Amino acid sequence: MSDVAVCPNCGAKNRLGTPPPGQVPVCGRCAGPLPWLLSATDATFDTEVRASVPVLVDFWAAWCGPCRVVAPVLEELAREHAGRLKVVKLDVDHNPAVSGRYEVRSIPTLMLFREGRPAETWVGALPRGTLNARLAPYLG
Ligand SMILES: [Zn+2]
Repeated sequence: MSDVAVCPNCGAKNRLGTPPPGQVPVCGRCAGPLPWLLSATDATFDTEVRASVPVLVDFWAAWCGPCRVVAPVLEELAREHAGRLKVVKLDVDHNPAVSGRYEVRSIPTLMLFREGRPAETWVGALPRGTLNARLAPYLG
């Protein structure tokens, strides 16, 4: 999977690799923090939700209209909180094991993970301001 992040500081395109444990992805040109947003699968989910920063998981599906409303909001949040937040997208249609394990019944569902475990669950397409307010206590 080749997830690409555009550096908010210098505009360089970076391929999002896996940073060393305890670190966040940084720009290869200017070393600033990159927006950390990628797609996970049933196979990679457990690894992706373990990070040094809070991880916001977006349970979504291609046919879900409200999910399309949330997607650009999450991209903005990843940019705004680069270095402090990771966003992981999970397509529930193609990854039934994870969505079943966390009992996702309605989408979009946003789940905030810390240390690999869910801390908060928010159902529905929340506006950016609301999401930011709910994330604030976790972003330090
Ligand atoms: Zn840069």
